[in-house]
Amino acid sequence: MSSGIAPDPSNHDGDVSIVRAGHVLTMAPAGDITDGAVAVSGADGLIRAVGDYASVRTAYPDAAVIGDSRDIVTPGFINAHDHLSEGLISGMGETMSLYEWAERLIKPVLRKLTRDTARAGAMLKAAEMIRSGITTVNDMFVHFNPGSYASLGVADGLDQVGLGGVISFGPEDMPDPLPTGALLDEHEALHDRVEQSPNLGFRLGIGTIHGQTDALFRATVRLAASNDWMVHTHLAEVREEITEARLRYGTNTLGRGVREGLLDLDVIFAHCIWVNEPDIEILTTRRATIAHNPLANMILASGVCPVPRLRAAGIPVALGTDGAGSNDSHDMLQVMKCAALVQKLHHLDPLALTARDVLAMATIDGARALRADHRIGSLEAGKQADVVRFAGDGVRLAYVHDPYQQLVFCAGPDDISDVWVAGRRVLAGRRLTTVDEAEIVAEARRSAAELVTLAGLHEVSAMARRSAADALREGA
Ligand SMILES: [Zn+2]
Repeated sequence: MSSGIAPDPSNHDGDVSIVRAGHVLTMAPAGDITDGAVAVSGADGLIRAVGDYASVRTAYPDAAVIGDSRDIVTPGFINAHDHLSEGLISGMGETMSLYEWAERLIKPVLRKLTRDTARAGAMLKAAEMIRSGITTVNDMFVHFNPGSYASLGVADGLDQVGLGGVISFGPEDMPDPLPTGALLDEHEALHDRVEQSPNLGFRLGIGTIHGQTDALFRATVRLAASNDWMVHTHLAEVREEITEARLRYGTNTLGRGVREGLLDLDVIFAHCIWVNEPDIEILTTRRATIAHNPLANMILASGVCPVPRLRAAGIPVALGTDGAGSNDSHDMLQVMKCAALVQKLHHLDPLALTARDVLAMATIDGARALRADHRIGSLEAGKQADVVRFAGDGVRLAYVHDPYQQLVFCAGPDDISDVWVAGRRVLAGRRLTTVDEAEIVAEARRSAAELVTLAGLHEVSAMARRSAADALREGA
């Protein structure tokens, strides 16, 4: 691939740009191309060529060149598990474990979400994601406000910012009952909304396997099967889940899924921390993939995912930020770094998970986990032009000995200067091109204050306390 790129006769309109770098980490069989380049087409959104800079330049002599031989270029990162329903509630509640956090912090907020607040949160976090090199997010929007169709706000927000995504709605109707018909309708409405967007795909979401009544769970599995929809859910996140499921169903949550036909579908499972060998056998032999979320797992003290064991079993394991409420940050570089570090420490083995491994998990393995590796996840001619440029003009990338380790352990989001999503340059010279960032921030600040006040989160949110104090003062 590094030589013999013929001049491209279709490039009459000058729509191709060349992204040059000292290291092009293709995450494809071509590996790390030294003094390489990627030809990106803005017209069809595809990669036209990848190879050494001289060859690509010869093929596209008139194309604009972005970057130089000090830079590092990678495929766009894939955030394989997120909840943009938490886009306005980062940065509080760190002392709670999962069940407590869900009851005291998350549910009061998720009962108040609307399509507008969903859009505001989605735009804020989409901007943060682009700034850390994410070009595709696999989101599960969870809310308890039936009839609001709040999940559609995510599609509105991602479309405005220009981030690629796979979107699902993840309802639960236990312990608080909700009308099954309205929940199933929202899957259909979200699917129809997503169909209108060129950069978005759809999955059917199941909040958690143990959070749905038999009626909803069975109807949901039937709906997915009849439409041939792929599924996004959680599995074995905390030990309490396993105990609760065994007491209630006589088997763990995975066992319930098998019994009700969920494992006959193509499913991405977030977490998979509390899995045993028989569980891994089931996941290996079914159409299952996994999204690992090390930051959320550490903040909530949920446990250590057996990532090396799952990868050795041949299951595609992707990386996710998880929601803004449980991770707090949407920085994919932090996710990669922590994914490697927690395994090195847990196994007392520096080989347990390397920088190169986690970069693969954030790119090509993420694409495999979303069943999209024919389209995204690596830099190869013909694939979608999702490209990230790390500019070598800052202190962290002043020199590069090993580009994988340099990115994963040394770089920060500030080093990312340019991002292309499907050939569209959404970050150019560290500026978002599709939206006014100051406006997004201002709207998110307003919406966040409103939401936490409505949800009554005075205990954990300084914003909610201030709104209450302001209201008292005005009333006096
Ligand atoms: Zn989650």
